[in-house]
Amino acid sequence: MVLDNLGSSLRGSLDKLSGKSRVSEDDVEEIVKEIQRSLLQADVDVSLVMDLSSSIKERALEEEPPGGTTARDHVLSIVYEELVGLVGESTEIPLENQTILLAGLQGSGKTTTSAKMAWWFSKKGLRPAVIQTDTFRPGAYDQAKEMCSRAEVDFYGDPDNEDPVDIARKGLEETADADIHIVDTAGRHALEDDLIDEIEEIESVVDPDRNLLVLDAAIGQGAKDQAQQFDESIGIDGVVITKLDGTAKGGGALTAVNETDSSIAFLGSGETVQDVERFEPNGFISRLLGMGDLKQLTERVERAMSETEEEEDWDPEDMMKGSFTLNDMRHQMNAMNKMGPLEQVMDMIPGFGGGIMDELPDDAMDVTKDRMRSFEIIMDSMTDKELENPRSIGASQIRRIARGSGQDEERIRELLQQHKMMSQTLKQFQGMGQGGDMERMMK
Ligand code: GDP
Repeated sequence: MVLDNLGSSLRGSLDKLSGKSRVSEDDVEEIVKEIQRSLLQADVDVSLVMDLSSSIKERALEEEPPGGTTARDHVLSIVYEELVGLVGESTEIPLENQTILLAGLQGSGKTTTSAKMAWWFSKKGLRPAVIQTDTFRPGAYDQAKEMCSRAEVDFYGDPDNEDPVDIARKGLEETADADIHIVDTAGRHALEDDLIDEIEEIESVVDPDRNLLVLDAAIGQGAKDQAQQFDESIGIDGVVITKLDGTAKGGGALTAVNETDSSIAFLGSGETVQDVERFEPNGFISRLLGMGDLKQLTERVERAMSETEEEEDWDPEDMMKGSFTLNDMRHQMNAMNKMGPLEQVMDMIPGFGGGIMDELPDDAMDVTKDRMRSFEIIMDSMTDKELENPRSIGASQIRRIARGSGQDEERIRELLQQHKMMSQTLKQFQGMGQGGDMERMMK
């Protein structure tokens, strides 16, 4: 995530303020240095970093902490406000009929983003359609089509038509029933005149309500030129920062936002259609500083839970009443998958943010995506009886399941062990008289 280390390094300096009622110049200097280091490492433009540092310094030393506020909380709230100011407001994306054009260089993540955004709109109850006009990158058509089918949204593209402008025009006609049109465009490895000509032509045919520039979080300072050129050509209303799962950078994209006077619309943090979220400055900075972002977490939990219940006739409350079976575990895993990568989810929980995950023993949260996937495969090879009553699984069953699922016997024992641990944890909650839904468990 952008500025990944900021939260933990800053917390160290802030903790030194504990118990103090006033901050000294040296204290502020140290805190500002931490912030500068993190921002510069994350590729944020030097002049932006300097502006931010001087306002934090000035405010921390001159403003009086409101009554009852400790020096630490006072400085933290100033840092928080200034960082929120740096990332700016979120791009306005009303939930109503509109056409959105995606621009960006090849590989920035446009095609992936188009399907992700369509999925996001569909979850808001709208009917989106993706129009794929990228005739330059081989594979763009198949990729977009497949992702849209996974996202269960309308899709238009034509692999036999080499004219992107014509595809855009026909796409709009063919998907006239949709509320939201997301038009994906071609990119090149570098900004070239023909790319600019092409996107300008598409823009004039599509007449979008919003042009979003898609930027890879790792792009660095090159983002500035790109943003300027796209802005001059079609005008940029907002930016989507992708691949935040793979880098601690992202500052280049932030700089681009500042440069074009635009804002951030969405964040992408993975390769699947669900790995997208609307950019929310307050939540984003809270998470960064390790304060947790409960609102988002609650939304994700609710969404994942309601989808799991919708899809299957499964009631989480039943699980709390009786014993915890392997079937229950599978449902829990499905719900967790829908919330997004576990580390991101943990990051949103207060007290777990800011890299604290790294400090936990390896086995504490060792339910990685790969492990979950192999657990799914193993469970597919189990009988209903075994799923409902894992105790009936002995050595000979383990051998059979291993053969059927093509997994090591060790993996199956691991799954059973994991189930046992979850089951015991759940029993403790039941013993404490707590309710069954995850939201209440988090309180
Ligand atoms: P395009 O050329 O701009 O359409 O880029 P693509 O959508 O094809 O994305 C390029 C590559 O980046 C693909 O392999 C995607 O799977 C990957 N990608 C896109 N967005 C993300 C993201 O948020 N996280 C990760 N890890 N990969 C991404």
